[in-house]
Amino acid sequence: MKFIIVASLITVLLLFLVWKLRPYLLVLREAMRFMSEIKRTADARRTTPPKRESLVRCASCGVLVPSSRALASRRLSVVYCSESCMRQRER
Ligand SMILES: [Zn+2]
Repeated sequence: MKFIIVASLITVLLLFLVWKLRPYLLVLREAMRFMSEIKRTADARRTTPPKRESLVRCASCGVLVPSSRALASRRLSVVYCSESCMRQRER
């Protein structure tokens, strides 16, 4: 009988403690989630380095454009930044 009383007292005490510490536990959990989010972002940034792409100069206006976005001339061995630059130069 005595054991039951002690056990229930301990249970009530534990429940009271958890109830009192709940805000702190929630803050702690939020902080943990925030930290893991930062870590994941940093890992993602490390695993996918920014692609280095060579820049080419537009033969018409002289602006630098990534080689994948540059328009190559059909007649001349030059590149252009846009359709309008190509038309302007190859008229
Ligand atoms: Zn241009």
